[in-house]
Amino acid sequence: MAELLVVEDDETIGTALSAGLRAHGHAVSWQRTARGALDAAAGRAFDLVLLDLGLPDLDGVEVCRRVRAAQPAAVIVVLTARSEEIDVVVGLEAGADDYLTKPFRFGELLARVRAHLRRSAVLPPPQTLLTVGATVVDVGARRVTVAGAEVALRTKEFDLLARLAVEAGTAVSRETLMADVWDAHWFGSTKTLDVHVAALRRKLAAAPQAPRITTLRGHGYRLECSAD
Ligand code: CA
Repeated sequence: MAELLVVEDDETIGTALSAGLRAHGHAVSWQRTARGALDAAAGRAFDLVLLDLGLPDLDGVEVCRRVRAAQPAAVIVVLTARSEEIDVVVGLEAGADDYLTKPFRFGELLARVRAHLRRSAVLPPPQTLLTVGATVVDVGARRVTVAGAEVALRTKEFDLLARLAVEAGTAVSRETLMADVWDAHWFGSTKTLDVHVAALRRKLAAAPQAPRITTLRGHGYRLECSAD
C-alpha cells in the first residue's frame, strides 16, 4: 500500500481524489493548505505527493520546493490549471517529477499515479552497477558517482540516466524513454522528458568527467560513452 499526500484546497476535488485513491488501496493524507502539507511532509515519508499549485496560504512553486526538500525520495505530481507554470515547477527549480493539467479525469490521474508507483519495471534490476567511463550508476542504492564523487539526482533524473546508461553509446528514442521512465501508455506531451534531460545535463556538466547527453533531432537522446 502506497502512502500518498494529497494537497488540494478545493473541497470537491480533494474529496473525490482522496476517496478515489483510497478505494484503489492507497493510504491518503489530505491537506488543504500549504502549512498542513509542509507539516505532514515533515512528519513522515510519502511515496507520492499530488500537489495543487493554487493554495490559499503560500505560492505553489514555493510549496513544491519545500515539499521536495522535506521528501527527497517522493514522486511529486503537480496539479495546475496554468500551463505556463509547468516549466518552472517540473525540473530543477521546484523539483516536481510530473504534472497534470486541470481539468483532468480521475482515470487519467490514477493511471499516472500507478505508473509512478510501479517504478518502471523495464529499468535495470536493483543489483545492477552500470559503468560509463568514470561514471558509476548504482541502481540498487540509487546513487551516481563520477570519479568517486556523488552526483545528487532526483528520482526521474536518476531513472532517465539509468535507462540511457543501459545502452550507453546507442540512440534511445523519445518514445522508449517516455515508455520506460514514465509510463508505457502515456502518449501525451513529452515536455517532461526535455525538462528532465536539461536538468540532468546541468548536473552532469558540473562533473568534468561525466558523460554527455547528445540530442538526436527528431529521434531521441544518446549517452556518450566517453567525456570529451
Ligand atoms: Ca486550488
